[in-house]
Amino acid sequence: MSSIADNTKKVTTRIEKAALNAGRQPHAVQLLAVSKRQSVAALQAAIAAGLRAFGENYLQEALPKMAALQPVPGLVWHFIGPIQTNKTRDIAASFHWVHSLDRLKIAQRLNEQRPDEMPPLNVCIQVNIDQEASKSGTSPDQVISLAAAILQLPRLRLRGLMTLPPADLDDGELHLRFASLRLLLLRLQKLYPDHPELDTLSMGMSSDLEIAISEGATLVRIGTALFGERAP
Ligand SMILES: *Cc1c(COP(=O)(O)O)cnc(C)c1O
Repeated sequence: MSSIADNTKKVTTRIEKAALNAGRQPHAVQLLAVSKRQSVAALQAAIAAGLRAFGENYLQEALPKMAALQPVPGLVWHFIGPIQTNKTRDIAASFHWVHSLDRLKIAQRLNEQRPDEMPPLNVCIQVNIDQEASKSGTSPDQVISLAAAILQLPRLRLRGLMTLPPADLDDGELHLRFASLRLLLLRLQKLYPDHPELDTLSMGMSSDLEIAISEGATLVRIGTALFGERAP
């Protein structure tokens, strides 16, 4: 388990180097530990290594882990998986962030179901840059209208954009995908200068975090490089 501490140092160093190479501040890039299919013990090791922000893909798997770690102060939970309609109530009540918002109906449900005593739910719009039929995410030409609708929902706080590129792209193709997400966020920021909280580009994983950071990622979602291979 001590290797999670070593891996955390390695990943943190990779992030810092990539940021400096891009002329950016190392602390401008947040590390989100993707803990899907990892045990509570693995999460505890990550917490001991100083990590506090965790990303989960499956609600049924996340809820028991969140309950087991309830006594740990300061944890921040991000939902990053596909959202089924019947899961929105629990997601709205349990998570601090949702990265995988890709349609208005889900946004409306999360807005209605976010408990009053909690602060607004931070959300990112997931963008399907390649418009792959099999993948979740809204198409790039729908982002502006979906963002406009989300900004009307008082219990949601639109923070930015997220993407998950196809697995088989080469480095040049990845640069293009991440650059288009950055340009889309720039368009939103120009349209809504009175929304400074629109500051998040959630892009980059274990194998491509350097490319994502060079293209402006403010949050990288890292699983394997921190925890090792996932259980099948
Ligand atoms: C699993 C997952 C990750 C982490 O991927 P690694 O390659 O293990 O770093 C990041 N984002 C999403 C949406 C994921 O589902």
